[in-house]
Amino acid sequence: MDQLIELKGITKTYPVTTGETGVFKRLFGARKRLFALEGINLSVKPGEILAVLGESGSGKSTLGRIMARLETPDEGHYTLRGQRQSGRAQGRKDRWEFGSQVQMIFQDPFGSLNPVHSIGYHVQRALALHGPSEQQAADLLDAVGLRPGSSFVRKFPFELSGGQRQRVAIARALAVRPALLIADEPTSMLDVSIRMDILNLLKGLRETHNLAILLITHDLPSAFYLSDRMAVMYAGQVVECGRSEDILEKPSHPYTQLLLRVAHERIATRPGKTDEEGMLAAQLRETSSCLFASRCPKVAQSCLEAGPALTRMGQREVRCHFPS
Ligand code: ADP
Ligand code: MG
Repeated sequence: MDQLIELKGITKTYPVTTGETGVFKRLFGARKRLFALEGINLSVKPGEILAVLGESGSGKSTLGRIMARLETPDEGHYTLRGQRQSGRAQGRKDRWEFGSQVQMIFQDPFGSLNPVHSIGYHVQRALALHGPSEQQAADLLDAVGLRPGSSFVRKFPFELSGGQRQRVAIARALAVRPALLIADEPTSMLDVSIRMDILNLLKGLRETHNLAILLITHDLPSAFYLSDRMAVMYAGQVVECGRSEDILEKPSHPYTQLLLRVAHERIATRPGKTDEEGMLAAQLRETSSCLFASRCPKVAQSCLEAGPALTRMGQREVRCHFPS
């Protein structure tokens, strides 16, 4: 058992109503199931950084929430250090025990801090079961680069910049010394100039705390900069997974290639032409084609006949009939 976390066959669907708009939707719309995740197999080792990459709607946040046990999957197994976990963490004891292993931070560092409480309060509260002291809170703030920590303890969220607030959120998550930090788009609401600082902070914490990180991002350069391995997702499926260096050097899946091209050309964050209908049809699994077929430059007849399985190719896994 050298895995910290293992997910096997995780599927999560949501009920949706399609076909009508406005008030008629509830009455006359068709009720369907949208696949946010399908058959996800992923593992994270202690101290490993795994990036989950994909455009909006690909299922990244759902994966993060399931890994944080904020949601229950429809199907699949979840183990933490070899121990089988139930769906959503229930009850104080379960939540506390699990929370001492796995913590999550979100995109919006302002939304996750309470404006009426001081920075010290937020961090000390998280330390509560470890015998909190202002000094410990200050030390933690120091550790996330808010220096000197003692000068931040009495400040309030509105007195801090976005980057500083995200550092507070990270300090609070670290208070319990978790083994895994799930970071859902942690830099996407920050100024470009300070994104790198937060990524470097996360990188440093892996070194100093042997912290494993699940980095959820739609930004390929961030994923490559930080991660050891990456899983590229499309419409709820993993389409390519392997060592980040290998994937950067030679992306196999046409979707990964598209993401890489977009990153090189530094064009909009949304890769390629958006095909919302195609994406929705894919999420509803209303097609037996490859889910990426409607956007794929390499699409062939066999791609329309059947969707490919995720297949091992050397060190990586790829879901494509014609991998490069
Ligand atoms: P990402 O983080 O990659 O943008 P999400 O995991 O947030 O993707 O969402 C995946 C899909 O599941 C999206 O189409 C989204 O609209 C849908 N979805 C997520 N949460 C819910 C929910 N609670 N109810 C209905 N649909 C949802
Ligand atoms: Mg998301």
